[in-house]
Amino acid sequence: MVIRLVLFGAPGAGKGTQAALLKEHFGALHISTGDLFRRAMKEKSTLGDQVRSYMDLGFLVPDEIVMNLVRKELVDVVKENGFLFDGFPRTIPQAENFEQALSEMHHSLTAVVSLEVEQDLLVRRISGRRVCPKCSALYHVDSLSHGEVCPTDQSPLEQRKDDAEEAVKTRLKTFALQTLPLKEYYREKKLLLQIDGSGTPAAVFARLLSVLQPVLD
Ligand SMILES: [Zn+2]
Repeated sequence: MVIRLVLFGAPGAGKGTQAALLKEHFGALHISTGDLFRRAMKEKSTLGDQVRSYMDLGFLVPDEIVMNLVRKELVDVVKENGFLFDGFPRTIPQAENFEQALSEMHHSLTAVVSLEVEQDLLVRRISGRRVCPKCSALYHVDSLSHGEVCPTDQSPLEQRKDDAEEAVKTRLKTFALQTLPLKEYYREKKLLLQIDGSGTPAAVFARLLSVLQPVLD
């Protein structure tokens, strides 16, 4: 079964986690714009520096830069057995541009899945995130029993700048202003599926599969 999905939701809604589960289930390619941004930043290019200046403040990376990075990926993406976009599109111009790029390649989206999570839970989920500077593993402070060190290599864990509480609040505000209107956009296109994103990753995944079933039949 080939699926072409967009995972939609606020920062902390669990898009990355669900994308990983979907990837395992359907064998589709997972493209996270967060990962694309971080890769660009590591390359220390002008583009990477621009991306960083927006992300550190919790602002959206401008459409032109995002489309630049995504279009490069799309060429390979459409050859794969379906895809899952997480963190993209984030604005209506990006969605329109994406649709055009897909139709040029004779493809279209299967569905857009919106993960619905209350604001308080979003803030708790993101501001508790820690990353290991050595092995890049992600953790949540609630699941660490021996302090903020990596259980694998004992490195002291760090908080990403865009996960700090102030940046999180800006990210949520930005989401409400610029990204939330996309829900209406996809609803009008009859692509939107909404699910409750609270609870364990497994519980959310079960809900996700059940709403996807009718679309896949
Ligand atoms: Zn580690």
